[in-house]
Amino acid sequence: MRLENKVALITGGGSGIGRETSTLFAAEGAKVVVVDVNDTGGEETVATIQSAGGEAVYVHADISQAADCENMVRTAEDSFGGLHVMFNNAGIMHGDDGDAEQTTEKIWELTMAINLKGVFLGCKYGIPAIRKSGGGSIINTASFVALMGAATPQLAYTASKGGVLAMSRELAVIHARENIRVNALCPGPLKTELLMSFLDTEEKKQRRLVHIPMGRFGLAAEMAKAVLFLASDDSSYMTGAEFTVDGGITAAYVTPE
Ligand code: NAD
Repeated sequence: MRLENKVALITGGGSGIGRETSTLFAAEGAKVVVVDVNDTGGEETVATIQSAGGEAVYVHADISQAADCENMVRTAEDSFGGLHVMFNNAGIMHGDDGDAEQTTEKIWELTMAINLKGVFLGCKYGIPAIRKSGGGSIINTASFVALMGAATPQLAYTASKGGVLAMSRELAVIHARENIRVNALCPGPLKTELLMSFLDTEEKKQRRLVHIPMGRFGLAAEMAKAVLFLASDDSSYMTGAEFTVDGGITAAYVTPE
């Protein structure tokens, strides 16, 4: 029960990393506010938590909209009396995101609005609520692509994740003496809907797998365990970190055959 008496808000809780983290947090005692734009997915996550005896509510919020972010934080306070853990995790990877010549301004702006501004807005409204609750932990989902370049480009996505990483670092420093920790999670490529719908042929998958020392994609459940560590007091002396969970990809030059 590492999150007993804690209130946690998780964006993108209707799928992938967000769903696995929501159910794990609830199993560890947290009251969970599940946020998504996909109502079916979000409500399914809440139903799974409730059927296991946990506490959760679903809030529809588009994280690129300030009013929605304000409302999701208010819901946490109204439903459960405060906010201690915020996992700014929702993000998109658009199929038309490519190199500088291919990527349109529309795709760039959409990606930045959700992946980068969405995390900013989550922090903008979440930080005062966490402060009022006596402090807590913010985890923002960046990516291994914030740390290394790929010749299979998604320029807007990569730039947005670099922004999340830099912003998380600065927020960590600003709020370090207020008992508010901020860390960025940098997942490697995962077997979730987001990536697998993009890597829809065996050839595309192999193009990536050869660069991963472990030789497999990660699982959303493996990210959830890392997020639990960052959310709980087990990581009490960690802030401003790039927490990389990537099967060794950022450590590798030549991978095993
Ligand atoms: P996913 O597509 O399974 O889940 C993302 C969720 O976010 C979905 O339920 C979606 O409806 C929701 N969402 C999208 N736009 C939203 C918005 N504007 N407002 C609120 N919710 C919105 O993806 P995932 O793999 O679980 O990804 C979660 C995070 O992890 C993303 O930020 C992603 O960029 C990052 N990430 C994923 C991988 C990977 O390989 N899957 C690798 C590194 C980082």
